[in-house]
Amino acid sequence: RKLTSALHSLSRETVIDQDAVDRLLKEICVALMESDVNVKLVQQLRNGVKNTIKNLDDMAAGLNKKRVIQQTVYKELVKLCDPEIPVYKCRKKRSNVIMFVGLQGAGKTTTCTKLAYWYKRKGWSTCLICADTFRAGAFDQLKQNATKAQIPFYGSYTESDPVIIAKEGVDKFRSQNFEIIIVDTSGRHKQEASLFEEMLEIQKAIEPDNIIFTMDASIGQACESQAIAFKETVNIGSVIITKLDGHAKGGGALSAVAATKSPIVFIGTGEHIDDFEPYDTKGFISKLLNLGDIKGLVDRVNELNLDDNPDLMKKLEKGRFSLRDMYEQFQNITKLGPFSQIMGMIPGFNDFYSKGHDQSSAERLKRLMIIMDSMSDYELDNTEGCKLFENEPKRFFRVCRGSGAHPIEVQELLMQYDRFSQMVKKMGGMKGLFKEGNNNVNDRDMKMLNYEMAKMMDPAVLNQMGGVDGLEKMMKQFNDASSGKGSGGSAYPAGLFN
Ligand code: GDP
Ligand code: MG
Repeated sequence: RKLTSALHSLSRETVIDQDAVDRLLKEICVALMESDVNVKLVQQLRNGVKNTIKNLDDMAAGLNKKRVIQQTVYKELVKLCDPEIPVYKCRKKRSNVIMFVGLQGAGKTTTCTKLAYWYKRKGWSTCLICADTFRAGAFDQLKQNATKAQIPFYGSYTESDPVIIAKEGVDKFRSQNFEIIIVDTSGRHKQEASLFEEMLEIQKAIEPDNIIFTMDASIGQACESQAIAFKETVNIGSVIITKLDGHAKGGGALSAVAATKSPIVFIGTGEHIDDFEPYDTKGFISKLLNLGDIKGLVDRVNELNLDDNPDLMKKLEKGRFSLRDMYEQFQNITKLGPFSQIMGMIPGFNDFYSKGHDQSSAERLKRLMIIMDSMSDYELDNTEGCKLFENEPKRFFRVCRGSGAHPIEVQELLMQYDRFSQMVKKMGGMKGLFKEGNNNVNDRDMKMLNYEMAKMMDPAVLNQMGGVDGLEKMMKQFNDASSGKGSGGSAYPAGLFN
């Protein structure tokens, strides 16, 4: 949000003064706290940055000071997310026993299966053990998950002692030389002595190679005390954060990292077995800092180089948007045209970055443009393009024939256009959104815009736009190219410092 613009303005300033640095730091701290990052950790970051750049003036001449500041901020952020402690690495051709702990509902059982499945797909022999005798139906839940994923499992309907089940299961699977043995344990609604006793007993009985603490991202600040309590009892080695697909920014997770001194290894992003990703610091930081927030949209619109396309900006301002405008924006997408920047700011859009759509977005855009190539000037410039085609089907079928596209494709293109033009209308109707230097669109307008956009940008439409993943890649490449870094190994999340 404002952070992006703070970083922007910083990079525009020619003289770096202490004020500018303080301002930037303040913005970052606010963004982090809004994402539920613990105050102490925020303070730690602040001090870390301050210490490093204290001697900015003494730095060698020629060193790019702006870059130094940006790098420092980023490094400190990474430090918060990464305790720099080696993660337990499972070894092939031996049994690696992994025990899950965490409160009830944190997502242990779901995540156990996800992890088993992840290893299985990488060619490891994996199995699951249900040592939860507390929750009714726990074994059934694990059994169902495991069966679906075709993973061998162990549990019992009759044995009530989870320690015995865990031990029996691990012994059995060890003797069968399974490489990854995952043990699911029970949780309680809150931290209770009985739970901790049970955890400890199981740990003693099975001597796991790694204990994974599973935590629900949405619990926010409560993470710290919870993580501390678990860490005090068992020997936590890694953290998995679940439910990052929701609204939680996961700032609380940093408290867990700090408290357990254990790295985050995976994140859960949905209920499905595939909604599971190896933890990636850059992506996590982007989310923490709220990049992609709706408020950022206003900042971004204000920051756009309006000279790029004054005509389009005028039209947007008036709420007009023709098929030709869409065509031109498609052409511009690879050049980070204003349209794509705006799209990146639309709520929900960012989420799709991570979902990985394989089809080539460039190809799809090309197809859409071929369809538009079959339209007449009159059709392209009409600001009621959809109605025009609806009222005169002859036009519709002519375009289908001319472009060799299936009517459904043409229909989809028009629907997409309709949504975008509606969005532009809404934005145009908001006084001052496009006025330069204006940062205070009122809250009500903002809420409305947010709501309208979320409604319009349904996943299917975004998908048709050509796979957001591909779009993001293009933007990244452009970012890298424009900052002269080349395509590989950018040190920053895309868009964070550019
Ligand atoms: P446990 O009590 O710790 O074993 O938690 P469960 O694995 O039974 O999960 C509790 C609920 O959270 C279930 O409804 C899961 O489907 C859901 N869940 C788990 N992980 C995720 C996730 O990453 N995202 C979402 N949206 N839901 C999740
Ligand atoms: Mg469970």
